[in-house]
Amino acid sequence: MSTIAIVVPIYNEAENLPALVERLNLIAARLSDEHGVTTSYVFIDDGSRDSSFDLLAGTDFQGRAVRLLQFSRNFGKEAALSAGIEAALDADAVVMMDADLQHPPELVLDLVRIWHAEGIDSVYAYKEDRRASEGWLKSALTGGFYWIINRGTRFDITQNAGDFRLINRRFADALRRLPESERFMKGLYGWVGFRQRGVPMTPPPRQHGVSSFNAWRLVALSFDAMTSFTTAPLRLMGLAGLFIAGLSALYGLYIVIERLFFMSGGIGISSVLALVSFFGGIQMIFLGLLGEYIGKTVLEAKRRPAYLLAQDVTLDAHTQTAGD
Ligand code: UDP
Ligand code: MG
Repeated sequence: MSTIAIVVPIYNEAENLPALVERLNLIAARLSDEHGVTTSYVFIDDGSRDSSFDLLAGTDFQGRAVRLLQFSRNFGKEAALSAGIEAALDADAVVMMDADLQHPPELVLDLVRIWHAEGIDSVYAYKEDRRASEGWLKSALTGGFYWIINRGTRFDITQNAGDFRLINRRFADALRRLPESERFMKGLYGWVGFRQRGVPMTPPPRQHGVSSFNAWRLVALSFDAMTSFTTAPLRLMGLAGLFIAGLSALYGLYIVIERLFFMSGGIGISSVLALVSFFGGIQMIFLGLLGEYIGKTVLEAKRRPAYLLAQDVTLDAHTQTAGD
């Protein structure tokens, strides 16, 4: 008999929660019948402004063990997932999924089946055709981002894999040991390593509400991810500087020779202006990039926790109606 904990980060999902819990309860019953797996839940309310937390506290979970964590404010999905993994210490495996039903709960059955059958450390769902659901610009940008980040690391960060994932105990323990407070989970899954396998899924559209991740937040997340996982851009800056300095030196030599031996040449003020502002721009880009990395070290150096809890409620199985 193995146990799994289903971890769900929640930010303003009151409209989605009743349907989610209903479907999860059905899945939990099937997991118990078909796979001999006992399911518990960990819900992390990431500072919702709606009634998500109270709604969960009043929900009937059919006798299953439930842990309700409430953050003191919105700390972000990455922090919520980390808190959930922390809280699920006793489980043999942890399953993470979104609350908005874009991660079909039925797929948990497949994740568990593969975990049991193949004994691998992590099974994740990946979007089969990302381009269909996203515009070409977004998929080009994400493609470029993953290209950069995967060039600079020894491990792969899977592009189409979201946070719908099962991890076994040693995988979860490895994540629990990582000390950083800025946590880009997709990167950490790759960093941890072990044996992982993907299963395809086609995520349905969000049932209610809108995604919390607009273009700006995604850009911020990419910078967080990049600065956390690779220093390759810093090296690239140095190389680019070397290249440009080399070119300028050659050009300087050319001007001197032209003047000395041919008494001609000379360049107009506009080309000087263009060059100066061009290199000014390049320097600013590089400084900004450098600033991103320094900012990251400042944040980590403070050693603040990734989240603060306002409430930590364990719903007692006895106070609820018996399970089926
Ligand atoms: N979420 C969260 N904190 C946030 C934003 C989102 O815990 O600050 C949760 C949200 O409730 C959902 C999951 O993270 O369960 C995915 O969020 P969303 O659907 O907005 O993102 P998308 O599906 O567009 O990636
Ligand atoms: Mg979603």
